[in-house]
Order: sequence, then C-alpha cells, then structure tokens
Amino acid sequence: MPGNANQKNFKPEEDFPDLSKHNNWMAKVLTPAIYAKYRDVCTPSGYNFDGAIQTGVDNPGHPFIFTVGCVAGDEETYEVFKDFFDPVIDKRHGGYAPDAKHKTDLDFTKVQGGEFDPKYVISSRVRTGRSIKGLCLPPHCTRAERRAVERISVEALATLDGEFHGKYYPLNKMTEAEQDQLIDDHFLFDKPVSPLLTCAGMARDWPDARGIWHNDNKTFLVWINEEDHLRVISMQKDGNIKQVFQRFCEGLSKVEAAMKEKGASYMWNEHLGYVLTCPSNLGTGLRAGVHVKLPNLAKDEKRLDDMLGKLRLQKRGTGGVDTASTDGTYDVSNSDRLGFSEVELIQFVVDGVNLLVEMEKKLEKGESIDAMMPAQK
Ligand code: ADP
Ligand code: MG
Repeated sequence: MPGNANQKNFKPEEDFPDLSKHNNWMAKVLTPAIYAKYRDVCTPSGYNFDGAIQTGVDNPGHPFIFTVGCVAGDEETYEVFKDFFDPVIDKRHGGYAPDAKHKTDLDFTKVQGGEFDPKYVISSRVRTGRSIKGLCLPPHCTRAERRAVERISVEALATLDGEFHGKYYPLNKMTEAEQDQLIDDHFLFDKPVSPLLTCAGMARDWPDARGIWHNDNKTFLVWINEEDHLRVISMQKDGNIKQVFQRFCEGLSKVEAAMKEKGASYMWNEHLGYVLTCPSNLGTGLRAGVHVKLPNLAKDEKRLDDMLGKLRLQKRGTGGVDTASTDGTYDVSNSDRLGFSEVELIQFVVDGVNLLVEMEKKLEKGESIDAMMPAQK
C-alpha cells in the first residue's frame, strides 16, 4: 500500500498527486483540501487514502470507459473517506445524494419481455458481486483473508444441489490450456492484465486463492477473489435474458442461504446497498448484458453511444471491459448499479436492446431510423 510513516514529515500539498492529465472521477473530485483531510487517516484495518486512489493516479484514462479511479480496501473505506467517496458515487451514478436509500427487487416475475431474437442476441448474462463481512476487500486483504474467502465460499457452494450442483476449479490447479479455454468461452475472468486491477493491488499473490465454481451446465458461475470476494453469474448462449435473470435470482438466494449456514454474511447497508470493491458496482452490483450483433449501427459509433447513454446502457467489446468491438458485435449492458432495483435495471436492458435490434433490422433493409431515436430515460 502506498504511503508510509514518514508522510507526517511532509505537508499534504507536497504529497498531492499530479492529476494534470487525468480523466476519471477521482481526479475530478479530489481537491488539495480533501487530500489534506484524509492523507493521514486510516480505516480500522489500516487502509489509507493513498491506497484508495492509487489506481486512478496510475491510470489517467481508459480507452473505452470513463473509470472511477478509486477503490475500497474494506467495508469502512466508504464511510471513513466519505467526503471524497460521496461525490464520486454521486457523479458516477448520475445523481445519488449522501442520504439516498438503495432499493432491492429480485422478483423476476415483474420483468416484461426478455426473450430476444437469437439471430442478433447470441448470449445473455447477469452478474453481481458480494463481499463477506469482516474480511478486507481484494485491494487490501491479506493472504489469509483471501484464503478464508475461498474456503468459506467453496464450502457453502458445495452444499448446493439440483440445477445448482457444481464444482470448484482453483486457478492454481488448472493448466494454462484449461484456463485459456475458460476465458475464451467467456466463463472465466481474464488474467490479471488490466492495469485497473493491478494498480489497485488486486493482483497481489495471483493466482493464490482465486478460482471459479460452476454448476454442471456452466449456466451458474461464481468467481472467487477477482475484483470482488464473489462474483455471481448466470449466463446462457441465447437471447433469453428472462430465464437467465430467473436463474440468477434463484441461485443468488440459495448461495446467500448457504453462506449464512457457514456463518458468513454480506457487506450491505441501506445507503450503499451491497458494498463492493469498485464504487461503480455499489448498490445492486448488477450488470445485465447481452452479446448482440449490430454491424449496421456500428457504422456510426457516435450515434450509437449517444443512444446508449439515453437508454442508460453502455457497450464493451465481447472480450470484456478492456476490449473494443472489431466486428459490430457488442456487450451491451446497463450502466447504472445504484439508485435502481435489479428488476428496473433488467427492464432498461430488455427495452433498450429490443429497440437497438429493431433499428438494426431497419438499417439492414436500407430504411431510416431517424423516427426511432430514444428520449433520455
Ligand atoms: P464483468 O463486468 O462481469 O467483470 P467483464 O467486461 O470484465 O465483465 O467481462 C468478463 C467476462 O465475461 C468476459 O470474458 C466477457 O466476454 C464475459 N461476458 C460479459 N458479458 C457477456 C455476455 N452477455 N455473454 C457472454 N459472455 C459475457
Ligand atoms: Mg471485470
């Protein structure tokens, strides 16, 4: 972790990072006054402010997304450095007051529609993160804490049955070829190549205590100790996001019950919802997305980005957050996580992707889509 005991021999302004080339929320929010207030403050587990902002200092920008530029090292980080994190959260989530209350709704029966045309939507996925209370988060955890996350989760997951019966595959017992295959098939997180991850300290000791658990059908998966303690994922290779969301809700509640049996509970509070490593994932932690073929819309990326913004959606390449599309197939997902319930976020994706597919069909026929432009949601 950056910073040391000699910091007190220098003034905070002598330690202020050079943010002159920066384009992320940390750099927009951090002032010398906030830095001076927090430079010498630590959370109860010893996580300091320089640790929280290092990834944003080392990554002035990202080629495809506007990043937050800061992370939490433990559950208390958001509270201890509140004057910094509150405005970052507010800006990243398009308006979220320091006293706002988060809502949860996992009643999948409320989603309207959600069976996309498989000619365009080739795969659907819903994921969230969960953190185990009392253990530090990946940027700051010790090896023992990380191994405790793995042990508790694997024991809990081993009790699931039926559709959710599965097996754990630790990274350090996998061959390179097995790992590459799981990554290529979009099941497993990438190797620790992302500078966002490494600069935040999340790649320390890799691959120790990292792994993937999945059910026998590979439709319900849990990542252990990547960016969050747990990432819970439901996915399948077609356009039925309704079914994917139903499995997600059912599996998630089974996992939570099993974790409770093992004496573990999740970090959660009324204001932030589920507490996760990256402020962009607070709240529901939910990213629901599809891999969708939009080669005609892709010819005008500026127009596509503008529409996605209005629909409260974002796009990525199909290889994950650090990739761009090269063939007009995108990962299109909700951009908000906080301030909306899980059901509301899924509905944004269902309605938005339906519209994009309708537009794509029009463009294919050489027709105009001018009359179909969405209004701001
Ligand atoms: P996350 O936000 O879940 O961490 P990333 O962008 O880091 O997502 O991607 C993680 C992996 O999940 C990548 O291999 C990516 O291809 C895969 N993935 C994401 N969305 C989908 C989807 N709709 N269908 C199939 N795979 C997906
Ligand atoms: Mg990721």
